[in-house]
Amino acid sequence: MKITVVGGGYVGLTTGACFAHLGHEVMVVEKVPQKVELLKSGRSPIYEPGLEELLQENIREKRLSFTTSLEEGLEFSQVIFICVGTPQRVDGSADLSQVEEVARQTARLMTSYKLLVEKSTVPINTHKLVKKTVQRYLRDKSIPYDVASNPEFLREGSAIEDFLKPDRIVVGVETERAKEIFQELYKDFDCPVIYTDPATAELIKHASNSFLAMKISYINMLADLCERAGADVKLVADGMGYDRRIGRAFLNAGVGYGGSCFPKDVKAFIRMAQDYGLDFGLLKEVERINQERPLRFVEKVKSVLWSLKDKKLAVWGLSFKPNTDDIREAPSIRIVDLLLKEGASLVLYDPKAMENFRLLFPEGRQVRYAPDMYSAVEGACALLLLTEWEEFQRADLRRVRSLMELPIIVDGRNVFEPSQVRALGFEYYSVGR
Ligand code: NAD
Repeated sequence: MKITVVGGGYVGLTTGACFAHLGHEVMVVEKVPQKVELLKSGRSPIYEPGLEELLQENIREKRLSFTTSLEEGLEFSQVIFICVGTPQRVDGSADLSQVEEVARQTARLMTSYKLLVEKSTVPINTHKLVKKTVQRYLRDKSIPYDVASNPEFLREGSAIEDFLKPDRIVVGVETERAKEIFQELYKDFDCPVIYTDPATAELIKHASNSFLAMKISYINMLADLCERAGADVKLVADGMGYDRRIGRAFLNAGVGYGGSCFPKDVKAFIRMAQDYGLDFGLLKEVERINQERPLRFVEKVKSVLWSLKDKKLAVWGLSFKPNTDDIREAPSIRIVDLLLKEGASLVLYDPKAMENFRLLFPEGRQVRYAPDMYSAVEGACALLLLTEWEEFQRADLRRVRSLMELPIIVDGRNVFEPSQVRALGFEYYSVGR
């Protein structure tokens, strides 16, 4: 099939590269010319494991191309995947201006049947607004079109694997014509494909994300209880997780959820419910618990070191999760900010996210960036761990200890085994144990 993907970000590039990998011909429309130039030369503007290789392979095989022109993208195929951003507005609702723009411009430019697919995460009944917009701006009102919802569930850091081997595919369609296109597109996927109406599909995405965020806040609350009561939250999570009704995933206590999805999607879901006259108090609490996590972590650091003024602290991990360079809404941002306000002097290290972090926290009197994890800890009086990159799990802790001024680790992600680290002479503090 021929497929057009609009938006060359985490979701658009993964969608484009993976469909091309499956043998389809894909054109990605990205409005930022610099990104398109980079992509044409086989380089990825974002870090996602395996993505650059997949882009290069499919460019070489001539199954994948890039353009800044939506017109070219619309001429290319009849299936248009909308993968643009839906960021948060100040009131918590989703900013749909990028989706509106694509719908409007598509309507103005289209000359034959198009299937517009919402892959971006959008509020319930956005498909109705997309349809209304297309209808309004369509030059020739007799041109047929469909609007469908096919939400994306991939996780950054394992996006390609998630896209190619999803747990399920959700498709919200209104016509047989649209359904047939999806049936052809997903015929080789070895997972349930659930066909619904578009509103239900839009809701499934939000319901899933908010449920996962709820699991994280739940375990974080349990972590606080464990710390006070002298129990071990990791074992509590294991004990709960073996129950198939619960599952172990998303039960890792830490400094809270972040990223470009959970924080904004939970907010948007609360707001959406409000628009329909419902108070989703449960999710408000999920959000409140999460917002407290960075503060709690910094309080812990303060309780260990007393005053942080002029103390040199090493920070390992800045991305909101491992295997990505994405720092959007990362807990590290608030933690670093709070530590700086306490007067600490920070040496930061992350395998992939330092370039992005530098834009928020430029190098200066209180902030330095280290070229590797060992240089970061030189002379530090504590090591703070904020992202569970595998590199950190494999660190030579003897070497770390020899480089530090004081052997103190405050682990915000429960990366290490307390008994092992303590046996090496560290004072070790983690979350909920
Ligand atoms: P992103 O910000 O990384 O990418 C969006 C891209 O769209 C940008 O490169 C932007 O320049 C481009 N764009 C915007 N308007 C355009 C236009 N008119 N024409 C062409 N390109 C345009 O965003 P993302 O992380 O890929 O997320 C996209 C959507 O998918 C969001 O709704 C998000 O909530 C959802 N989602 C994200 C993830 C994730 O893990 N990142 C997972 C599932 C769903």
